[in-house]
Amino acid sequence: MHYIVFDLEWNQSPKGKEDSVPGMPFEIIEIGAVKLNEHLEKEGEYCELVCPQEYMTIHFQIRKMLSYTMKDLKKGRLFQDVCKDFLAWCGDDAVFCTWGPGDLTELERNMNHFGVANHFPKPLLFLDLQKIYSMEYQDGKVRSSLQHVVEELKIPETKGDYHRAISDARYTAAVAQKLDFEQYGKYKSVDLYRIPDSVEDEFHLNFGTYEKYVSHGVEDHEQCAQDKKLRIVKCYVCQKKAKARTPWFSDNQGRYFGVFECTEHGLIKGRYRVKQDSETGLYYGIRILKQTDREGADAVVERKRRVEEKAARRLEARRQEALERKQMANAAMKDAFDKGLVEGVQPKKKKSGKKKKPATKQAASQMPATSQVGANSATRQI
Ligand SMILES: [Zn+2]
Repeated sequence: MHYIVFDLEWNQSPKGKEDSVPGMPFEIIEIGAVKLNEHLEKEGEYCELVCPQEYMTIHFQIRKMLSYTMKDLKKGRLFQDVCKDFLAWCGDDAVFCTWGPGDLTELERNMNHFGVANHFPKPLLFLDLQKIYSMEYQDGKVRSSLQHVVEELKIPETKGDYHRAISDARYTAAVAQKLDFEQYGKYKSVDLYRIPDSVEDEFHLNFGTYEKYVSHGVEDHEQCAQDKKLRIVKCYVCQKKAKARTPWFSDNQGRYFGVFECTEHGLIKGRYRVKQDSETGLYYGIRILKQTDREGADAVVERKRRVEEKAARRLEARRQEALERKQMANAAMKDAFDKGLVEGVQPKKKKSGKKKKPATKQAASQMPATSQVGANSATRQI
C-alpha cells in the first residue's frame, strides 16, 4: 500500500462562472505528488505541467498566485496524457491524501471531460489531511491553511513557493509524516463525485466511532429527505434497530437531527442532510451516526428547543405583522366610510341587483388601496 499525497493547480474561466465549461469549472494545469510507503517514508515524486485546452487565459486571481505563465503551460502535455501517466505512477494500491476535500473531485471532473477512464473504486475513500490534522491537533472542526500548519509544526520551508503543486504536495507529505496515521488514518473521507446509483450501491462506512451513510440519488428532494433508510436508525455496532429518543427534527436549514438508543450500545446521535449532485441533479442524503452520552443527547435536545423557539418567534412575528396589516386596513376603511367615499361603491351593488356576491367581492378586493378606491369612486360619482 502507498500513500499518494497530491496537489493540483487549476485555472478557471477568465470571464467568470457563466462562461464555464459544463461539468468542469476548473481545468487542471499542474499535478504534483509525493509517494509515501506505509511507514510514511518518501519513495518518489511526480510533477508535471498540463497544457490548457479549455481556458486559454489565466484567470487574474490565479495569475497572482502562479509562478508560471500561459506560455510555460503551453509547453506542457495534454491532460489526457499527463493524467494517464500520473495514475500509472500512483499504482493500484494508492491511498490518496490531499489538503482539504476538493482535489479528487476536480481530478475526476477533468478525467470525465477529457475522456480518461475512471477506474477508481466506488466509494472512493481518501485521507483529507487538513481534517486529520484538525482531529489530532485542533478541535476536529476548524480547518487551517497548509502554510499555517507548516509553520506550526516547524517544518523547514524551502524557497519553492506555495501554490506550486509539487511544493504544496511536499509540504503536505511533510505534515503527513508528523500525523498519527495509526490512530487517525482510519478516518477516511469519501469522495462524492460519483454518488451511489442504486440501493445496492449505497455507501455504509463504519469508522469505528461513527458511521457515514450515503443514499442513492433520487429526483425528488422531499422523497429523499423522508426516505426510511435515512430515518430508520440501526445501531451501527450490532445492526439492531435503535429506538428514537428524540425523533428526527429539522433545523429549517436543510439539516436533520435526532437521538436514538440501542439497548446494548446506548445512545446514538444522528444527523443528516440532503445534497444535490451537481452532475445529475439528483438528490441524495448523507447521514452520520455517532455513539454519544447523556450530555451529547442533551445537547441535541437543547438544539431542538432552540429551533422550536426560533420557529415560534418567527410565527409570532408573522402573526403580529398580519395583525398590523389588518388594523391598518380597518383604519383605512373606517376613514373611507367616515369621508363617505366607500359608499360611492354602494350604488354599484344595487345596479348589479341579484348578483350580490360578486359586487361585495369587488368592493372587498378594492378595499386595501383605500385612498385610491376612494378617489376612483369619487370620480365615478361625479
Ligand atoms: Zn447496538
